Amino acid sequence: LLLRRLEAYGFKSFADKTEVDFGPGITVVVGPNGSGKSNISDAIRWVLGEQNIRNLRGARVEDIIFSGSTGRRALGVAEVSLVFDNSDGVLPLDFNEVTITRRVFRSGESEYFINKTHCRLKDIHDLLADTGLGREAMPVISQNKVDEILNSKPEERRLIFEEAAGITRYKNRKKEALRKLDDTEQNLVRLEDIISEIE
Ligand code: ATP
Repeated sequence: LLLRRLEAYGFKSFADKTEVDFGPGITVVVGPNGSGKSNISDAIRWVLGEQNIRNLRGARVEDIIFSGSTGRRALGVAEVSLVFDNSDGVLPLDFNEVTITRRVFRSGESEYFINKTHCRLKDIHDLLADTGLGREAMPVISQNKVDEILNSKPEERRLIFEEAAGITRYKNRKKEALRKLDDTEQNLVRLEDIISEIE
C-alpha cells in the first residue's frame, strides 16, 4: 500500500496547509533542528490512530494543535490526511485513491473520515489491518522505537509478525465473535430463568 501524499493543516508546526508528496522510491526529509521533520512522522502516526499524545511528544491534546508563533494566531483545529494509492485494490474500497483524515478540536474531540465520509476509528483500524499499516505493524519507527523492539518480550514481538503475516484481521474477528457468543449465552441463561419463573 503506497502512501502518495500527506496534507496537514494546524497540526503542530504546520500553520499553513502543508502538502508532502511521496513519489516512488525513498523520500528523504531534510531541514535544520526543530524545523518540523519529526512532526511529519508524528502526523502520519496520528492519522493511523495513535491515541497516546505522549507518543507524539506532547502532554495534552492542545500540544498537537498549532499554538501560534510571532505574528500567527493559534488555531482551533488540526487536520491531517493521508492519501493512499489503491490502484491495486489492496484496500477493499472501489477507489483508486483512498484518503484517511483525522481532525481534532481543542476540546479534545477527534473525528475520522475515509474519503471524506465520517467514520469511527475502528473503521480505520479495520481498513488498515493486515496492510502493514495496522495498529501492531509499527509502520513508523522512530529512533527510540528501535531499542524498544529489540528489548521487547517475545509475545510483544510476535504481534508485529502476526500483523506482517496478515492474520491480525482474523484474530480481531475471532475476538469479536467470541464476545458475541458470550453475550448470547448470557441472554440464554436469562431467558431460561424467566421461563422457569413462568412455569
Ligand atoms: P530535530 O532535528 O531536532 O529532531 P525536527 O526537524 O524533527 O527537529 P520537530 O521536532 O519535528 O523538528 O519540530 C519541532 C518544532 O515544532 C518546534 O520548533 C516546535 O516549536 C514546533 N511545534 C511543536 N508543536 C507545536 C505546536 N502545537 N504549535 C506550534 N509549533 C509546534
